[in-house]
Amino acid sequence: SLFTMMYIINRLMSIVGAPPREWTRLLPHELQSLDLSQRMSFDEHFISHASTDFGSLVRSIPAAVLNPLSIDDIVSLVRFSYNSPSPFTVAPRGHGHSIRGQAMAADGVVVDMRSLKGNADRIRVSTEFGWADVGGEQLWIDVLHACLEHGLAPKSWTDYLYLTVGGTLSNAGISGQTFLHGPQISNVFEMDVITGRGEMATCNKHMNSDLFYAVLGGLGQFGIITRARIALSAAPKRVKWVRMLYHDFFAFTRDQEHLISIKGLDYIEGSVMMDQCPANNWRSSFFSPSDHHRVTTLASKHGIIYCLEVAKYYNIDGIDEEMELLFDGLEYARNFKFKKDVSYVDFLNRVRSGELELQKKGLWDVPHPWLNLFVPKSQISDFNSGVFGGILSKNSTNGPILIYPMNKNKWDESTSAIIPDEEIFYTIGLLHSSGLDDWESLEDKNKEILQYCVKAGIKVKQYLPHYKTKAEWMHHFGLKWELFQTRKIKFDPKAILSPGQGIFN
Ligand code: FAD
Repeated sequence: SLFTMMYIINRLMSIVGAPPREWTRLLPHELQSLDLSQRMSFDEHFISHASTDFGSLVRSIPAAVLNPLSIDDIVSLVRFSYNSPSPFTVAPRGHGHSIRGQAMAADGVVVDMRSLKGNADRIRVSTEFGWADVGGEQLWIDVLHACLEHGLAPKSWTDYLYLTVGGTLSNAGISGQTFLHGPQISNVFEMDVITGRGEMATCNKHMNSDLFYAVLGGLGQFGIITRARIALSAAPKRVKWVRMLYHDFFAFTRDQEHLISIKGLDYIEGSVMMDQCPANNWRSSFFSPSDHHRVTTLASKHGIIYCLEVAKYYNIDGIDEEMELLFDGLEYARNFKFKKDVSYVDFLNRVRSGELELQKKGLWDVPHPWLNLFVPKSQISDFNSGVFGGILSKNSTNGPILIYPMNKNKWDESTSAIIPDEEIFYTIGLLHSSGLDDWESLEDKNKEILQYCVKAGIKVKQYLPHYKTKAEWMHHFGLKWELFQTRKIKFDPKAILSPGQGIFN
């Protein structure tokens, strides 16, 4: 492989004597004496890649990028920094699909975790125990394919699978399965982690449990996940995928809440369609051209429509009747129920085709001023009227808007993740995309939404949070702030890890 070749070339160079390397004044010179320095790059290509992310909103230039050959390279790097009189920051970068520089390290070292992906045994499936041991650098799509070879699959997903295990576990990892199985961080048995002291530790609920809970949802602040043991279950073959349209918000949320309270469905999400938005978007192209007209007509008649989206997995057909029973009493607009029958992989990987389309048109690598929020159920109607019916109604958004409920009892309170203090809460995803010159106006909308929530007393929590001041972070963590801070002092006392989150620097 490419990495073996690079390794051999590096080895040869260390024997015959490498040409003088450009070194940076930002890193201690002694670092050059470590073997891993051979895998550190100062090359413009690597630096520029590590200075950007999916959001394209911020840019932070690291001193160097480490392309590790092994976990030991990362351990040595972090340990060196920790023991150095002038520690430098280290940011593991998964797939760089953060929005606001969370995987960047200004003047520090970005560790490109994906360099580990080709190493042997980075995804190991245990059919006996129903789990997979996967490297933190692995993409969920690759985890899916490896598990399917054994007839198994992870239980909890994100909508988009080209994200790394380490990246989503540092946040939570949510999708339409969260109501049933909890977020991805509720489906991890064990992890190997490199702490900010440069120590390697295995942790689970019983061993090093404080580290285990700190790292899950920990925004990369406590350790670098090098292995996670993920819960699996039998993989179904096919999926019945249904969308129902509503113009009445109360009926929409009542039905969503009803469906998450009963057994029967495997996936429940929802979205908001403004009259100026196309029925299909990159997140999924669902409506056939013949339905398209009906759907957009309904949207322009009512201004806003809400789309309930559910799925049921199956192996042997004949579940339509059973599904219809689950839909009994739902109050969607008559004749506005649409069905699809797709393979399990196509369902889970539904966002990919939209991505490839946008890539072709050059519309994927554009600024993404996204805002993701958790809103308590008791205030979702105020949010709807103020934000969808108010701030966003004035022809001001483009891109999918997600809205779906989940249960607090599926989240483990001991993790670092922050959710509202109410049994049912909604996730809202404002997935705007913009041109190069209008992203700031979308950022202004985001600010307006957050200000509105403060004024209206809506107790939202940001998902994939971003704040500029310590006071805002303290407010975000609320009662968990003390614990978060104590854990930081314990596991990363020199604030080396993931500085791009902007919490402790
Ligand atoms: P990166 O952006 O590389 O890193 C994110 C953070 O985690 C950084 O602070 C980084 O330092 C840290 N980190 C990375 N690797 C490790 C590691 N191994 N150990 C410790 N810390 C690490 N989220 C959802 O929950 N549900 C969704 O459906 C969803 N859909 C998305 C769709 C798209 C198109 C995009 C762009 C994002 C989506 N997200 C979703 C958000 C996504 O989960 C997060 O942005 C996630 O962090 C991205 O993973 P990544 O591998 O790109 O992480």
